[in-house]
Amino acid sequence: MEQHLTVTLARLRDAAELYRQLDAAQRHRDDAQQRQADLLALDAEYAADQEEVSRCDRDGRDEVRRLTDELAALTAKLADRRQRAATEAKLAAALAVDIASLARRRDELQARIREVQEQTARANAALAADATVAADARAGIARQREVLADRGRQAEAVVPEITEELAHLLRLLPPRVAGRLAQIARRHGDPVADLVQGACAGCGQTLPFQHAVDADRETALVICQGCGRYIIPRSSRRTRG
Ligand SMILES: [Zn+2]
Repeated sequence: MEQHLTVTLARLRDAAELYRQLDAAQRHRDDAQQRQADLLALDAEYAADQEEVSRCDRDGRDEVRRLTDELAALTAKLADRRQRAATEAKLAAALAVDIASLARRRDELQARIREVQEQTARANAALAADATVAADARAGIARQREVLADRGRQAEAVVPEITEELAHLLRLLPPRVAGRLAQIARRHGDPVADLVQGACAGCGQTLPFQHAVDADRETALVICQGCGRYIIPRSSRRTRG
């Protein structure tokens, strides 16, 4: 009986280690996935910054194009009026007024085009710095995402290995213990808890004195009444000094 208990406790300790590894691998995998999602959201923000830069530039160039078209039409009109003023002497006075008004409008347009070009250039210069920051940030994010994807795949890859090793170990345990262990594992990733100063390290509940002594001396299989985990000292008293 004593011999069986010792073997069972040793296997529970091995199982505890495997459950810890499994839990860590799953957490690393989930963490990598979560960070991937965070990075994607951040990348979208930087992409929006870049979009803003090109939108501002596009708007400026669109307006200059529109004004330039207007200027060309107006210049043609002005040339036409001047020609008519030269040949139709009786209309000359009215045409002169028209010509003066068109020339004024042309000067305004030219001034407006220069203004828009300067504004766009200034805005572009200011935003160019943001665009560079955004481009650098996005490149950094892409690199981080690759690293995370690698890490996620690595974490994921060890899960089946550990699961298989655990299944093998569970088959070596007494069926009643293995069954309970699998059942607790569905609720807690770490179904075997360390005994820490007379308490369960899983839930923190203090064990009844005799249970703590039994667990420490490895004279009985102890179950925490708070969380149901098996309680074993982290290292066996047989190997402790
Ligand atoms: Zn507990």
